[in-house]
Amino acid sequence: MEKKKIAILGSTGSIGTQALEVIEEHPDKFQVEVITASSNADLLIEQAIKFKPNTVVIVDESKFKSVSEILFEHDIKTFTGSAALAQVVEMETIDIVLTAIVGYAGLLPTIHAIKSKKNIALANKETLVVAGELITKLAAENGVAILPVDSEHGAIYQCLTGEHQNKIEKIYLTASGGPFRGKKKEELQKITKEQALKHPNWNMGAKITIDSATLMNKGLEVIEAKWLFNLKPEQIDVIVHPQSIIHSIVQFEDGSMKAQMGLPDMKHPIQYALSYPYRFSSNSPRFNFIDYPELNFEQPDFETFLNLSLAYRALEKGGNLACILNAANEIAVEAFLNDKIKFLEIAEINEKCMDEIRFIQRPRYDDYVLTDAETRRFASSLVRND
Ligand code: NAD
Ligand code: MG
Repeated sequence: MEKKKIAILGSTGSIGTQALEVIEEHPDKFQVEVITASSNADLLIEQAIKFKPNTVVIVDESKFKSVSEILFEHDIKTFTGSAALAQVVEMETIDIVLTAIVGYAGLLPTIHAIKSKKNIALANKETLVVAGELITKLAAENGVAILPVDSEHGAIYQCLTGEHQNKIEKIYLTASGGPFRGKKKEELQKITKEQALKHPNWNMGAKITIDSATLMNKGLEVIEAKWLFNLKPEQIDVIVHPQSIIHSIVQFEDGSMKAQMGLPDMKHPIQYALSYPYRFSSNSPRFNFIDYPELNFEQPDFETFLNLSLAYRALEKGGNLACILNAANEIAVEAFLNDKIKFLEIAEINEKCMDEIRFIQRPRYDDYVLTDAETRRFASSLVRND
């Protein structure tokens, strides 16, 4: 088998670095063709020297000189600026693009990769939340596979393997519940960012960790699931499962349920998305039943964790509403991380933006760009600037 040539957008992040660990375990199967980072030049250089990609992008232009000078000596091409991301994914030699960038910034490079007929290993869920209709249509037109890296969606994908002729009755996305599971609004008034950044089961980038604490992450995943698996809102349920052992479940028309399980370890869904349709070996620790005498399940608290309700509202209404929710949330999470707003204000800002920003039923690409910009401006005006 020829080596699969991989481009990793966001190689210095939590998903990116774990993807490189997976690749390192399988040097006979995978080859790194492109890596990119926003501004972590030191790690990017270290990764480039180790994995010898053809091309590297450092988005932050102030870091370009130092990166390009060092990598020139290693015969590695270097580019800078966000426009370069959309260009490098078009390289002929790439087989699959792992989108491990955080947020709306992933949208344009993903569109370019799909138009260049590259399969997508999709970690950047915000792309499907913002423009799921456009992306899935484009993928179908170009005969491109979108392989989910998100553990829940990776689980559903595995449960659906061999079931393509069979209708899905519904899916259950499992949720750990985050660090504030069981808490009520009064108890969440004074949450600090240090508390919110401590996730019980997963070690991830800052934005998704806050999204997990507000349950926005699960809300984004509900919308992501709609587009990946072509489901109606009433076919997508969320069930809180604090141990994060069952990664998600499909229920078929005969009532049978298939679940995918294992220890919480992102390297598994990353590897599956890169190796699909094959399974490669892995050294990751194995699940032991005796360590988990109980697996628990509970209903999510839609009232305390308003973001989850907002996601269902966006899902039901469609149009550009999920794009509005995503942009508002990106601004609100950043403001929370900069100590400008309180924890509960994240969802309040999201809701205000959904109420106020102009709704468009049938958005095209330019409408998403405008909606994103307009929402960011409005959400920023709601953030205290003291
Ligand atoms: P992270 O913050 O750890 O890493 C983000 C990466 O993207 C970094 O390499 C950074 O340099 C780059 N980046 C950030 N902003 C950029 C921009 N504007 N332009 C170009 N590059 C940029 O994030 P992460 O936790 O690895 O998450 C990445 C994506 O994967 C997110 O969409 C997240 O929701 C999704 N995801 C993450 C996990 C996880 O376990 N970390 C699980 C499921 C899904
Ligand atoms: Mg997930």
